[in-house]
Amino acid sequence: MKRILLTALTSVILVTSKAASAQEVITRELAKNVYAVSILHYTSLVVLGDDEVLITDTANSFRAAILRRELERLTDKPVGKIVLTHEHFDHNGGTELFPEAEVVAHRNFAEYEGLDPLGMLPPKIHVTYTHQMTIDMGTTAVELTHYGASDGVAVSVIHLPKEKTVVTADMYTDGGLNRAFTLTDTNLLGNRRLLNMLAGWDLEHAINVHSVSTDLAPLRRKAQFLNDLYDAMLPTLQEVAEHDGSQLVPTIIEMSETLKLPEYADFENYEASLSTYIRKMGFAMIHGG
Ligand SMILES: [Zn+2]
Repeated sequence: MKRILLTALTSVILVTSKAASAQEVITRELAKNVYAVSILHYTSLVVLGDDEVLITDTANSFRAAILRRELERLTDKPVGKIVLTHEHFDHNGGTELFPEAEVVAHRNFAEYEGLDPLGMLPPKIHVTYTHQMTIDMGTTAVELTHYGASDGVAVSVIHLPKEKTVVTADMYTDGGLNRAFTLTDTNLLGNRRLLNMLAGWDLEHAINVHSVSTDLAPLRRKAQFLNDLYDAMLPTLQEVAEHDGSQLVPTIIEMSETLKLPEYADFENYEASLSTYIRKMGFAMIHGG
């Protein structure tokens, strides 16, 4: 039985604000020992194991302090594992608030060493993997799988088969399209492949790190959008590639100004972001990202 717990933490003080501000914490029990905890635009998976707790994406130290307080309310067990969904720095700060925990992430995190000016990446990643690993929490199993480039190059899909729950980050939003400026190193072909795969899984909950909802409908609709965008672009680019490859880039630029997908006009950010999606999909097709 799902239940929603709302906890207002009243004693958290924002450094930059004039007064103390209450931060909303939304904790949902998705299954026995499995929670989704939403705080300040990030949702963490929380798995209570036999001896310790596993969490995902602490995000930053300010949020991590609120998360830690919420965990103390849920359990006496220590946080033993922090699993990072992907390398984007804003997801990965604050691990130092759980000094006993092992940080677990895909091995491609190493590619970003020295490229993190705000020092948000954990100083040490204790456990890495290449293709797949399973963490046995006693109460349940947590599977991490890397399916290649998508929203970055170190993405882990976190899957709890028993609870039919999956965790991903940044690949879709509740309302439609991501804001254009956030698609910095997003590989839309990788996102398309991954979302299509997940759309076919037998799932009850999809935690999307920036959403409170764990509904599967937004994931499926974004997969369909990426399929329709791909189908709308591929024949033209195939033809141009066959006759004069030097025209690929101008063709993508032109498509970004003329192509419309009116069946998605209800999407949030449709007007502002569609042309960026067209360019990014086109560039994923001609140079990989
Ligand atoms: Zn990201």
